[in-house]
Amino acid sequence: MDSLERFIRYVKIDTQASDQTGTTPSTEKQKDLGVLLVKELLDLGLEDAHMDEYGVVYAHLEGKGTRIGLNAHMDTALEVTDTNVKPHLIKDYKGGTIKLANGFEMSPAQFPVLRKHVGHDLVVTDGNTLLGADDKAGIAIIMSALQYFHDNPKVQHNTICVAFTVDEEIGEGPLHFNYRKFNAKYAYTIDGSDPSMIEAENFNAYAAKVNITGVSIHPGEAKGKLINALLIANELVSMLPVKETPFDSEGKQGYWHLGGLNGDSENASMSFILRDFKDDGIKNRINVLKDAINKLQDKYPQAKISIEFKEQYRNMKKFVDKKPIALKRARAVMRKNGIEPVSAAIRGGTDGATFSRNGLITPNLGTGSYNHHGRFEFLDIQEFNKMISVVIDLMKK
Ligand SMILES: [Zn+2]
Repeated sequence: MDSLERFIRYVKIDTQASDQTGTTPSTEKQKDLGVLLVKELLDLGLEDAHMDEYGVVYAHLEGKGTRIGLNAHMDTALEVTDTNVKPHLIKDYKGGTIKLANGFEMSPAQFPVLRKHVGHDLVVTDGNTLLGADDKAGIAIIMSALQYFHDNPKVQHNTICVAFTVDEEIGEGPLHFNYRKFNAKYAYTIDGSDPSMIEAENFNAYAAKVNITGVSIHPGEAKGKLINALLIANELVSMLPVKETPFDSEGKQGYWHLGGLNGDSENASMSFILRDFKDDGIKNRINVLKDAINKLQDKYPQAKISIEFKEQYRNMKKFVDKKPIALKRARAVMRKNGIEPVSAAIRGGTDGATFSRNGLITPNLGTGSYNHHGRFEFLDIQEFNKMISVVIDLMKK
C-alpha cells in the first residue's frame, strides 16, 4: 500500500482536539482514527494492537534486540478546522506562489520555507482546513515502516513499541499514558518538520493564574475606599520586564506571556504562561511574579490577591543528556540516509518532553511537513518518504 495514500486516508478523518470538554479524549472523533489504526495494525501482524479507554492505541511488533518506541499523535490543532480536509497534490513544485482552492495564497515571500521545496512534490490544503500532517504524517511514517517489516519478514528488527496518543495539542498526550504497557527502553516522537532536525531540547513551561478581589463602592463616594481590581492587574503587568514577551523573544530566550485578562473593578483574573529553557530561569520567572504579587498585596491590604502556578512540561535536555543512546542512534541512522543531523531547540513542548521527564527518553524527529496548525500546512512527499527510510533503519537490527 502506497504511503501517500495512507497519509491521505488518515488526514480525511477529522480528529480535532478541544480544550473545552475536560474529557479524555477531548473529542470522541479522535477514536475514529484509532479504530482504523488498530485494524490496520492487526492486518500488519501486530497481534496485540488495541485502543484503551482513553483512546490511546498501543501495539508491539516483537523482534530481537532493544525495545524501541515510536509515537505520533492522532489529534489535530484547535486553530483551524479539521472537518472535510481535501488534500491537493502539487507535482514538481516550480517555486512561486501556490494558489489554494478558496482564494488563499501561499507565497515564498510570506513563507520562505517554500524555497527549500522547489522540485519536490507537495500536498497542500484547499485553504478551508488545516492539513493535519501534524501529526498524521508521523502516523503514516510509522505505519509505512511497519508495512515494510510486514512485507520483508526476513529483515531483522528490534522490538517495535508503537503508541498513537490523543490530545497532544492540548498538552495532555501523556496524561493517561501507560508506560508499562508501552514497555520501550527509549522512544521517538515523529512529530517535527525538517528531516534533518533532532529536537531534544524544549522550554520549561508553567501556567500561572492570578485572582484579584478589590473593594467595590459607588465611584462618587469612593475616595480612599474603592480598590479597583483591574488597576491592580494593570499594575502587575507594569512590574514585569517590558521586553520579555513572546513578541520580543526568539532562539533560547524565555518570556512571560499574559494570555488572558477578565474582570471588572471588583474582580479580575489573569492567566499567564511562563517559558524558559533553563531551570533557574523558569524559577526566576516564577519568583518575579510571586514577588510582584506580594508587593501588591502589601500595598493594597484591603484587596485579596492570589496566584497559583501549574507546571506544564519540563525541558527534556537534561534527561536526554543522561541517556544519550536515543540521540546517538538517530544521528547515526540519519547520516546513513544522507542527512546531516542538526540539534534544534523547540520553543514549545512535545509529548516526548513529559515522557523523558518520566524516564522514557523520547527525542522528536521530523515528518517532512511544515506550517503546522493552519491552512498553509503542507507535506513534502520526498522528505516524508525519506523519513520512512530513516524510521525503518532506526528499527532494523
Ligand atoms: Zn504535533
